[in-house]
Amino acid sequence: MQRWVMASISLTDAELRRFDAALRDQRDLTGTDLNRLAQSLTSVREARSDGSADDEHDPEGPTLSSEWSRIVGVHREFDEKVAAIDRALARIADGSYGTCIRCAKPIGSARLSALLTADLCIDCAREIENRGR
Ligand SMILES: [Zn+2]
Repeated sequence: MQRWVMASISLTDAELRRFDAALRDQRDLTGTDLNRLAQSLTSVREARSDGSADDEHDPEGPTLSSEWSRIVGVHREFDEKVAAIDRALARIADGSYGTCIRCAKPIGSARLSALLTADLCIDCAREIENRGR
């Protein structure tokens, strides 16, 4: 229990443990999705390097490239998700999880339950959004 001794004043040990476990679960799931995507990337790449790729007017060309960029986009999204989860886990480890990185107020467990990787309180998040970032 003393692992959380430096932890945020706004969350209980039990809550922190629950968020920690949920973040790890989410990370595993995202990792699985990433692997699946990596496989689709490989198969698109293989389809591209098919003999037909020599033909510049290959009708499949545009379809493949749009599929490719779609997958690359989703891949980047998942990558960012994993990075956000890692940052959240690091904040749990150093005790800053659950504290707004902008105004240092508690983020609140309701908001964290809805958005595990939240690093801004609802007020700061709204303010930044209204400014159009
Ligand atoms: Zn804030």
